[in-house]
Amino acid sequence: MKDLESRFFSIKKSIPKNIKILVVSKNQSVSSIERLYQIGHRDFGENYVQEMIQKYQKLPKDIRWHMIGVIQKNKLKYIVPFIHLIQSVQKIEHLQIINKEAFKNNRLINCLLQIKICNERNKTGITNQEADHIMNHDIYHHMKNVKIIGLMGMASLHASIQKIRQEFFFLKKLYDEYQRKYQHYILSMGMSNDYPIAIEYGSTYIRLGTSLFGKRKLTTILK
Ligand SMILES: *Cc1c(COP(=O)(O)O)cnc(C)c1O
Repeated sequence: MKDLESRFFSIKKSIPKNIKILVVSKNQSVSSIERLYQIGHRDFGENYVQEMIQKYQKLPKDIRWHMIGVIQKNKLKYIVPFIHLIQSVQKIEHLQIINKEAFKNNRLINCLLQIKICNERNKTGITNQEADHIMNHDIYHHMKNVKIIGLMGMASLHASIQKIRQEFFFLKKLYDEYQRKYQHYILSMGMSNDYPIAIEYGSTYIRLGTSLFGKRKLTTILK
C-alpha cells in the first residue's frame, strides 16, 4: 500500500499546477497532519470547531485552517482569531458575527458562500437567489472585517456522472457571474470521488479527505 505522502504527491502531480488542494483532515490524527506539514502542505479543512481548535493548539501556527462544516454560530468566536478561510457561510447573520469577532481581533476574514448544487438531503447550502441577496445586502456592504471571495459546493455522492457535471456546471456559471460582478477568485468544488470532473468545470480548489487517508471510520463520523 502506498503511504500518505506518496498518495498526496501523486494526486498533486496529476492535476494542473494552478489548482489548490485542501486536505480535509476531519477525523484524522494530529500526526497524519504533521506528516503532510513536513512535506510542505499548509492548508487543512475541518468540519467541527472543537476538533479544529484541539488540532490548532497542537500544530505549527503557520497552518492555514479552513472551516468547511456547518457553521455553529456561538462557536465562531473561537475560530475567528486564527481561521484562514470560512468556506461554509450561508447566512448574513453568520457574516455579522464573523465581522464583529474579526473586528475585535483586528483581522479581515475571507469567506466563501456555500451553494446547494444537489438535492441530497444531507448536503447543505443556499440557492443562487439567496446568495444574490447576501451579495447585494447593505448590511454586508458595511462590513469592514469580512470579505466574500468565492463559492463552495458539494455535488451529489450517489448520482450519474452526467448529473454531477450539471451540478458543477451550475456552480461554475454562478462563479463566473460573481467573478465579473464581485471579483470572486475561489471556486471550491470537487472531493475525492469527483475532483477530476470538478477541475474540468473550472474548480480552483479541491477538497480531499478519503483519497489521501482512506475511508473515515463510521464510529467517528457519527459522533
Ligand atoms: C468531508 C468533506 C470533504 C472531503 O470528502 P472526501 O470525499 O473524503 O474527499 C470535502 N468537503 C466537505 C465540505 C466535506 O465535509
